[in-house]
Amino acid sequence: MKSDFYKDLKIYNSLSGKKEIFVPINKKNVGIYVCGPTVYNNAHLGNCRTYISFDIIHRYISHLGYKVRYVRNLTDVGHLENDDDSGEDKISKKARIEKLEPMEIVQKYTLDFHTIMEKFNTTPPNIEPTATGHILEQIDSINKIIASGYAYEKNGSIYFDVKKFNKVNKYGKLSGRKIEDMMNSSRDLDGTSDKKNPQDFALWKKAEKNHIMHWNSPWGKGFPGWHLECTSMSKKYLGDFFDIHGGGMDLKFPHHDCEIAQSEAIDNQSPAKFWMHANMLTLNGKKMSKSTDNFILPNEIFTGKNNLLSKEFSPNVVKFFMYQAHYRNILDLSNDALIASEKGLSKLIDGFNLIPNLNSNTKKSDFDVDNWISNCYSRMNDDFNTPMLIAELFECIKFINNVNIDTKNLNKKDKEKIKNTFEIFLFEILGLINENISNSEKSSDLIELLIKIRNQARANKNFDLSDQIRDDLLRLGIQLNDEKNESSYKLI
Ligand code: AMP
Ligand code: ZN
Repeated sequence: MKSDFYKDLKIYNSLSGKKEIFVPINKKNVGIYVCGPTVYNNAHLGNCRTYISFDIIHRYISHLGYKVRYVRNLTDVGHLENDDDSGEDKISKKARIEKLEPMEIVQKYTLDFHTIMEKFNTTPPNIEPTATGHILEQIDSINKIIASGYAYEKNGSIYFDVKKFNKVNKYGKLSGRKIEDMMNSSRDLDGTSDKKNPQDFALWKKAEKNHIMHWNSPWGKGFPGWHLECTSMSKKYLGDFFDIHGGGMDLKFPHHDCEIAQSEAIDNQSPAKFWMHANMLTLNGKKMSKSTDNFILPNEIFTGKNNLLSKEFSPNVVKFFMYQAHYRNILDLSNDALIASEKGLSKLIDGFNLIPNLNSNTKKSDFDVDNWISNCYSRMNDDFNTPMLIAELFECIKFINNVNIDTKNLNKKDKEKIKNTFEIFLFEILGLINENISNSEKSSDLIELLIKIRNQARANKNFDLSDQIRDDLLRLGIQLNDEKNESSYKLI
């Protein structure tokens, strides 16, 4: 291990509802499983927030010196509409709409997801297994659950018997939902369902005649249920009991509660020591989501081509914006918040780039560098508190900005330590890039300057010049919008 900081890492465990000291099951090796995307459409920025939150977690645990195996799956079959057991398969439906093969849909949106994750400079998982690549493992899991007595077959489908399971174990451990309440609030089955109880969930679904994605099984042609893939693939690559299982907050129920029930039915143990849930990104105060048409795509932000935005923002800025909220808190996206993040990040990077030019000597620094470094680690050790870490980084920037201009003294060795620490936290842990944002800021300032000159021309009735500025800007993809006394601009 690189230092002693690893000993103090505390992680909020959704299972206990408390922050707990992180002690891995297997000394220096850490297994992390994160539920990946269903690859049936372009990932929106909300989806990205969850994966960026886990990127930081992965990066920080690796930085502490652990050898991490990070598994994040791709759901390419079995995730039905409304997370239900009766809806159409999301991938099949998209294939029908786009007139493509289901695997063309999977390929198209997997590529898009990878490209976006790369633009965000996130570390790829060590294993990225697909549900369709693990049908045998899933059939094996079902056989084990049937053998334990917690699954039943009906008309070629297999269901998990939640009521029976709950008599011996507890169903709903993560969400805290009680089965009695669920039974009282759920509608009775309409007589056409094969389930014994509405809470039961599919482990295997019989494929109807027109269902394209199906496989042979001991129960006939069909396809696996959504919750099962994560149980089977996490077991295969991380074992029956691993360190961290993560996903977005909305997966707690039913997905993760069902995963726990499946694992307990198979081998009597909960699959993971820590359960971590990343909170939602909202837009206009509501969860960002494709189904409610309340979303923004990352590329729209990178190009500025969205009515909510006044300009484009780089992936670096968007990531920095996300880090300013703790991963367990809700975060609302807005143009103002992105502009503020751009300014903040620019200040931070400019401060970092100033370090080599700082005057230093052999006297004691007017800044307790060792204490500052320890504070940076304490913030991250406190359940990956990125907003507090950023506040610490700004503390040091305040000092740096005063070294050359006035009285603050910097010791030579401390200068090196500050530089290394910034490199570790900004680039290795937060995964930011040392890009020159000031350039993008400068271009918006230049556009504003041209608008000002044009306004003066208009006031002087020099319409040739004002029209020329407007047309030339339009040719560069900058559209001016004149209102009474003001002009705004939009990138097109
Ligand atoms: P899906 O492709 O629908 O399975 O979602 C992929 C991941 O994105 C899951 O972990 C979800 O919890 C997460 N997710 C969906 N919407 C949001 C959102 N608005 N903010 C953060 N994460 C989200
Ligand atoms: Zn999952």
